[in-house]
Amino acid sequence: MHVIYGGTFDPIHHGHLRLALEVADALQVERVDLVPCHIPPHRGSTGATSAQRLDMIRLAVEGESRLHVDDRELQRAGASYTADTLRQLRTELGPKRPLVMVVGTDAFAGFDRWREWREIPELAHIVVVSRPGSALPEASVASSLYRERPAETPGDLWQTPAGRILAFDAPLMDISATGIRQRISGGHSPRYLLPDSVLQRIHDQGLYGACPD
Ligand code: ATP
Repeated sequence: MHVIYGGTFDPIHHGHLRLALEVADALQVERVDLVPCHIPPHRGSTGATSAQRLDMIRLAVEGESRLHVDDRELQRAGASYTADTLRQLRTELGPKRPLVMVVGTDAFAGFDRWREWREIPELAHIVVVSRPGSALPEASVASSLYRERPAETPGDLWQTPAGRILAFDAPLMDISATGIRQRISGGHSPRYLLPDSVLQRIHDQGLYGACPD
């Protein structure tokens, strides 16, 4: 089974890192690949560059053998579309190996706005992780997709290469990259919300309005 966990990771924090390990344990896989995406233009220009986000992820997973970085979306020119990434991975893995994509409820709630979203469950299983403060709206396409294709247990994801949706209740950590960026730009410390090595890098490079040490 191949498990990917995508996001902007602007910056990566302990919510992301804990979640990746919880998923690895629950699915009984040896690794989870973090897949940073290009920042879509509408997110504004206050964040870190792709190279800086990638660098922070690498720092964060250093020494943790179960967490890896897959930088394919940053290598591609232009916007990152999940369907393209999954298609590429499917070609590499072959038709039989289970492929799993991890998303939070906030990201999954707008699933039907993703490009080629109908194709996605044909390519991969989806693990939807509950996120503090965001539940799936009952009437959403995401909810009905879940009702159509539920996985009862993590073990179900091993039975087929794609197509099931698993609701996964990981221990909740109410941490967001937005909250971290706001603390930094407001002159407050985000320490303990993210790895010290990442925070040090943020200060060294003056990211998110941080004062260089
Ligand atoms: P931002 O605040 O900038 O939107 P974020 O903290 O939500 O950032 P993303 O990089 O957008 O981080 O998140 C990547 C994925 O991780 C998304 O699917 C998101 O739902 C999930 N996620 C982020 N933080 C948490 C958390 N604390 N607990 C569970 N899931 C999370």
